[in-house]
Amino acid sequence: MRTLTEPFKIKMVEPLRVTTEEYRSVALKNAGYNPFLLRSSDVFIDLLTDSGTGAMSDEQWAGMMVGDESYAGAKSWEHLEAVVKELTGMAYILPTHQGRAAERILYGILGGKGKVFISNTHFDTTRANIEFTGATAIDIVYEEAKDPEIDLPFKGNIDLEKLQQLIIEHGRENVAAVIITVTNNSSGGQPVSMANVQSIRKICDNYHIPLVVDGCRIAENSYFIKHREEGYINTPSEDIAKQMLRLGDAFIMSAKKDGLVNMGGLLTMKDEALSVKCKNLLIISEGFTTYGGLSGRDMEALAIGLKEVFDEDYLHYRIRSTAYLGEKLKEKGVPVVWPIGGHAVYIDAKKLYNKIPINEYPGQALVCDLYIKGGIRCVEIGSLMFGKYDDHGKLIPATNELVRLAIPRRVYTQSHIDYVLDIFNDILEMREQKKGYRITYEPPFLRHFTARLEKIA
Ligand SMILES: *Cc1c(COP(=O)(O)O)cnc(C)c1O
Repeated sequence: MRTLTEPFKIKMVEPLRVTTEEYRSVALKNAGYNPFLLRSSDVFIDLLTDSGTGAMSDEQWAGMMVGDESYAGAKSWEHLEAVVKELTGMAYILPTHQGRAAERILYGILGGKGKVFISNTHFDTTRANIEFTGATAIDIVYEEAKDPEIDLPFKGNIDLEKLQQLIIEHGRENVAAVIITVTNNSSGGQPVSMANVQSIRKICDNYHIPLVVDGCRIAENSYFIKHREEGYINTPSEDIAKQMLRLGDAFIMSAKKDGLVNMGGLLTMKDEALSVKCKNLLIISEGFTTYGGLSGRDMEALAIGLKEVFDEDYLHYRIRSTAYLGEKLKEKGVPVVWPIGGHAVYIDAKKLYNKIPINEYPGQALVCDLYIKGGIRCVEIGSLMFGKYDDHGKLIPATNELVRLAIPRRVYTQSHIDYVLDIFNDILEMREQKKGYRITYEPPFLRHFTARLEKIA
């Protein structure tokens, strides 16, 4: 196979500061061994998230200059609305400042006490917005897909049998919506097949339940369908996305992912009565209906980004370059969640650092080592993020101790990724270490963002 090359050249650069291991050891200690508390200028390769961290194209930057900042009926709004209508086939388009604002509006209306939402996996802001209304969020990714090593093409699929059971169990009038998250962020960016969404649509029709597509990575998901699901290889990825979105009743998007912009979100739907309610909430909290939380230039850049993201060369590079990192790590003997998803590589820290006890956070130990050794920033998705305590203050661990390396879009080149791979040679030499970290401060909610830790001597 030929070398994978970036299908773009660089027109503007942002210098990266090279620091020493000694410098980074001090910086991390000062940050309480929590990379969320580091300054970005002390980070060399930032793999913390793929959300809002992408690079815009020259066309998008040019679009920024012609952004129409009129309060109502701006040209940039017309442009964005037309692009999104064509993509979704939905009649009502609402701009928001980011994905969670769209979630708050839609689930605030559909949710409430006694209501149930069913999804492959609710993303954390999705779950939080649903639970905030008093409703319950249930995850039903199918059983086999929970095995982190099993090689299956669509590990984001919903368990259809369980979906039917849950609807009957809770009563269809209590099921507020089925939400299909594509790709499934919380399970490693695993894709959902078209066949699965078609079957969900049928079930939703039978029981008169709305289907919401949480599609912030709809382009990446479409690429997986094109290459993994029978009958799609000759269909453009954009058309695959259009087909899938037409199966939904509503669409929510954090444009900070496949919108290829640094800020933005969308909420779209077919139903007029629902759109009126949503628009009322939009005006109260986000802004007038033709800008939501966005400036004209933001909308212009998003309208362009939503077309660029379906470029087949871009998508090939995007998915293959993420897989490149994952495959090379696997070759080195680093345990990774398999197969590699669209936007990130997940490392099984419980296996890699198997001498560090779970209550000393092996995932956080790996996160800290990657920063000290290489200036690489990433995030633990394990017991620091999801752990709870029992009545005796003993840690109830999370299901897995993972570390996520999320890949920003169009930002790093293959040599940056090769550098990350180099650093893992050092990491592999450290796998016999036995001591991890203890928490010295933690807030009551979402503790991983602001917790402070210390190294156990
Ligand atoms: C990022 C994300 C959201 C929330 O979007 P924000 O723009 O961060 O508010 C919702 N759902 C999924 C699947 C996401 O990945």
